[in-house]
Amino acid sequence: MQITLSQNLSYCVGVQRTLTLVEELLTRNPEKSYYMLGEIVHNEHVIKDLRSKGLHFTRDIKRIENHGIVIIQSHGVSRSIMEKLKDNNIDYVDATCPMVRVIHKQIKKLEEQGYFPVIIGKKGHDEVKGIAGQVSQALIIGKPEEVSPDLFFEKKKVGVVVQSTFIRADALTILEKIKALGTKVKFIDTICRPTTERQEEVKNIAGKYDCILIIGSKTSANTNHLYSLAGGKKSSVYLVDDPESVKDLPIPKDATVFITSGASTPMHLIEKVISILIRGKKQS
Ligand code: SF4
Repeated sequence: MQITLSQNLSYCVGVQRTLTLVEELLTRNPEKSYYMLGEIVHNEHVIKDLRSKGLHFTRDIKRIENHGIVIIQSHGVSRSIMEKLKDNNIDYVDATCPMVRVIHKQIKKLEEQGYFPVIIGKKGHDEVKGIAGQVSQALIIGKPEEVSPDLFFEKKKVGVVVQSTFIRADALTILEKIKALGTKVKFIDTICRPTTERQEEVKNIAGKYDCILIIGSKTSANTNHLYSLAGGKKSSVYLVDDPESVKDLPIPKDATVFITSGASTPMHLIEKVISILIRGKKQS
């Protein structure tokens, strides 16, 4: 078996930065209680590990005990959550990814310039909620079929930003549908560089290997995007959440295998997959 590793394995810079900060705080101040308002990353293995090290997860500010400190996750949060923390005198450490902060700034600027804010992104995703929460109101569009004349009725000019991990081609399809309604559109491409690099790499290698393994959680948007971008050519593509599941995949022993991962996948899971493949799995 010939294994090739992606140049973009494991955490993106934003997730790595937040995790390093969290680990440092938990080690340096074991007597303090740290909370996250939602998942730090969409990966159950990471959440379980941090929980065992003492990090608390809650979406309810009322559940934060006296002197508890909130760490804002890399996805960022809305203005109203920041205000609630301040109103309740809750200390916080803001670990919002700098690239998400840029999206916050851009959408606020668009609103100030008189554009109706539109976010191309997944409804209900923490990052999208945080972006929408920077402005008084915003339209969130996740699929081309959601673009309808009714939604854009009386919106003379709209300002569009994109969730950092969205598939660029899908975002551009949605954008074209909005433009086709005749609305004036100002578009700011806010898909982050690490996402772009991962997506481009997977698109370029699709079909060049017998098998592509995308290691990451099924709940992670960027992992699922890599999976869908890698499909459709001659490679067999698998999304691997639990490394042990690799043992059951029908990968021939002489296959060429390309391994990449979502931006929230810890390195030790990737190493485990590699070691199972090298040791020799159930052959088909
Ligand atoms: S995917 Fe991009 S925006 Fe999101 S945390 Fe990683 S680097 Fe930051």
